[in-house]
Amino acid sequence: MAFELPKLPYTYDALEPVIDAQTMELHHSKHHQTYVDKLNLALEKNPGYQDKTVEQLLVQLETLPDELKVPVRQHGGGHANHSLFWQIMGPPPAGGRQVSNEPTGPLSDAINAAFGSFIAFKEQFTNVAMNQFGSGWAWLVKDKQGELKVYSLLNQLSPLTDCHTPILGLDVWEHAYYLKYQSRRKEYVDAWWQLVNWNKVSELFVLN
Ligand code: MN
Repeated sequence: MAFELPKLPYTYDALEPVIDAQTMELHHSKHHQTYVDKLNLALEKNPGYQDKTVEQLLVQLETLPDELKVPVRQHGGGHANHSLFWQIMGPPPAGGRQVSNEPTGPLSDAINAAFGSFIAFKEQFTNVAMNQFGSGWAWLVKDKQGELKVYSLLNQLSPLTDCHTPILGLDVWEHAYYLKYQSRRKEYVDAWWQLVNWNKVSELFVLN
């Protein structure tokens, strides 16, 4: 079975004004589609791996045949990372008020235990996103011991390759924000917190 571009759980303009509709449409229908197409192309030439999920391919990356390693790292990573990204975002709170958008329950407890407080976590994640030089992602992951960690990875590298489960990711490639924010990555990162769908992140935290 060939991989397919997943449908967004909302419309292209649903994340306005934080992420504009044009950026969302290009990001999903062009950038993400290209990762899917190139991953499929690589697997057509190596049909023995076509029954794997993209997550399985990324976990097994180091054991794949050499000609699959680069396409799975780049396009498999791109497909998995963006599929998660669309899920962990949702429309910002209505009315333009600054509403607090925070996790609750077990995820909130785990964040407080790992980082001291939600504010401290947000600051650490924001710093990691700002200090990623060039293209990459900031990640909140659950490591093999079930502990929460924050770090960034270059390009489309996936935490799955280190056997870490990503539960929150922020795309800091310029294609994710340049149309609206140009070089002002900090404005994009600060505004993006309004979009985080903490119910979804909590679900990923509890299920994995
Ligand atoms: Mn992207």
